[in-house]
Amino acid sequence: MFTLIRNAQVFAPAPLGICDVLLAGEKIAAIGHGLHPNSQLNCRELDGKGLLLTPGFVDSLVHISGGGGEGGFASRTTALKAEQAIAAGVTSLIGALGTDDITRSLRDLLACARALSASGLSAYALTGSYRVPIRTITGNVRDDIVLIPDIIGVGEVAIADHRSSRPSVHELARIAADAHVGGMLAGKRGTVLIHMGDDEEGLSLLNEACMQHNIAIQQWLPTHINRQRKLMAQGIQWGLRGGNVDLTTSTTPDFIAAGEVPASLALAELLAAGVPIERISMSSDGQASLPLFDAQGQLISSGVASLSTLSQSLREAVQQHGIALETALASITKSPANTWGLKLKGRIEVGADADLLLLDADTLSPLTTIARGRIYV
Ligand code: ZN
Repeated sequence: MFTLIRNAQVFAPAPLGICDVLLAGEKIAAIGHGLHPNSQLNCRELDGKGLLLTPGFVDSLVHISGGGGEGGFASRTTALKAEQAIAAGVTSLIGALGTDDITRSLRDLLACARALSASGLSAYALTGSYRVPIRTITGNVRDDIVLIPDIIGVGEVAIADHRSSRPSVHELARIAADAHVGGMLAGKRGTVLIHMGDDEEGLSLLNEACMQHNIAIQQWLPTHINRQRKLMAQGIQWGLRGGNVDLTTSTTPDFIAAGEVPASLALAELLAAGVPIERISMSSDGQASLPLFDAQGQLISSGVASLSTLSQSLREAVQQHGIALETALASITKSPANTWGLKLKGRIEVGADADLLLLDADTLSPLTTIARGRIYV
């Protein structure tokens, strides 16, 4: 019931110095120096000396029910296991469908989210997939967001990609408007996650939807912004205008050779250009297949994206690009939590959920994961 983590260096993600954090059930109950809980309480203690204590990671895009299949049925990837997320330090995750909404369903996605939550994690789901018109559970986006507690937004809707439905500006605006109203009614953000492809048009459809239909720029979360240089340049302008941008941490040497910017480098460039860290998140695209297409659009090879790329990118951001730990950390904790309206996630604060990590101070790898007060070493 009670856990006291002693003497860790706390990043909330803002640095709080060395202190103690007391957990009561699924909540953070106290943060301070030399905390001494009542001796009648049965309190477990964790020694955090020499370690970093951070919020659990918040992953904005995971194909929790499996992804892929773009190279035929044999290329489909498996569903995520709770142990994979716990080992990667991910305590909150947003599940979505991608290209395949035919052999994979939203009902199955929802069941996978609930299975992960039943295992101790905090898993959410998005209605829809790459395809427009959006396929939903109840019949429309607004009802899904209002009536289904675990559904917190829409996505990932594909644009500027050879796998997209080529939606019109008006169709995109309709999706965002429905997500906005559904979100208002249900007390959710109703964020629309947009899968960005390689096509020249980039973010132009979203810009037009904002201008022509008066959609708030923060209703959208375009992801894979680091997939190529031209999109990065547009993402910087988008971020400077107040939009949120999401970077994808999973990659391959082939993707980098083909022009993808590593997420840690992209984070450094966005910050240097003046985009505030509150607008930047990094997600793993976990369990997605990592397809490589040739110039004719034919699939050459395929791998599977891992959630552990979040902590790898955190380490690269700090150790290779000199980004302050609290800043890099915010991109996988507080910033995505705020983008999705998860006010009790991604932060170490009294009253917030007891989702925390003890990290190795040198490698920044998670050694202990605490999810809703449950401890996994
Ligand atoms: Zn995608």
